[in-house]
Amino acid sequence: MDAYDLIWEAHAGIFPAPGRGWEALRAYRDAGFSHVSLNVGFDLLDGAHALATARDWSRRIAASDWAQMAGSLAGIEAARAAGKLSVAFDIEGAVALGGDAGNVEVFHQLGVRQMLLAYNRNTDAAGGCHDDDHGLTAFGRRVVAEMNRLGMIVDGAHAGERTVMDLLEASQDPVVISHAGCKALAGHGRNVSDAVVRAVAAQGGVVGICGIDLFLGGPADARVIADHIDHVASVAGPAHVALGLDWFPTEGAQVGEDVATILAAHPEFWPPAEGYGRAEGVQVASPSIIVALKSELLNRGWSAGDCAALFGGNFARVARQVWRG
Ligand SMILES: [Zn+2]
Repeated sequence: MDAYDLIWEAHAGIFPAPGRGWEALRAYRDAGFSHVSLNVGFDLLDGAHALATARDWSRRIAASDWAQMAGSLAGIEAARAAGKLSVAFDIEGAVALGGDAGNVEVFHQLGVRQMLLAYNRNTDAAGGCHDDDHGLTAFGRRVVAEMNRLGMIVDGAHAGERTVMDLLEASQDPVVISHAGCKALAGHGRNVSDAVVRAVAAQGGVVGICGIDLFLGGPADARVIADHIDHVASVAGPAHVALGLDWFPTEGAQVGEDVATILAAHPEFWPPAEGYGRAEGVQVASPSIIVALKSELLNRGWSAGDCAALFGGNFARVARQVWRG
């Protein structure tokens, strides 16, 4: 990749728990990424866990000589100028808020700049993609209003389609789908329909394409990822597609025993009928896929400018608008 390209990971899937994932974050930097949105919580873990994870990542990042936190485009540019990877946090779902929209501000102060309102299953705020989606609730609308007030990106990944449409109606700012595939190419429940792609784009948002084979409906390689990127570009234009690989290390003990027990007790979040838990496991494209992906897109006729927009410019445009700086 060219050194002057801004490369933005809209969501890394590194497991949110204190003390974990350092080498995985480093892999993004080594692959040439400029900025990573790193999750510090999801709906199976409570707000105290998310707070502890955010504080732990912040301490480790502040003590490193190759990464720094950035909650603005100016901060991201400062990190790039210093040759460092910039990091902001995201949270996958509203459970961490504990039913209080005022807690959005607490997480914002800790570096959270993007949040889902539901992770696969319904919450008190919104409907999940693997549930009977009840749409955005009155509490969910208060959360969206607070996110808009503070400048936090509303993310419809993992939500049901009715909820995504409600988020678009409720939010004053663009809404993103940070990591998913296209339903038109692979009929998985985590993927987005062309109607969602069009609606997100019409409000100025972007759809980040993931690198997970289960959702892509094929091998997690540059060709299949490019198929999904091409599809979003054909439906909504190249200004509305981004990269949300959601890479996580699939080898080694990513999850501690304590958390593994919680996850095992809630299989409804990953329904076997959707392919979760299948014998062959899940493969995710690693951060280094970006080199082959860019070659693939150029071979398909993508311009250098459209590639630069896909890899970072499009998400940066949304962030600059929502974060207001
Ligand atoms: Zn996710």
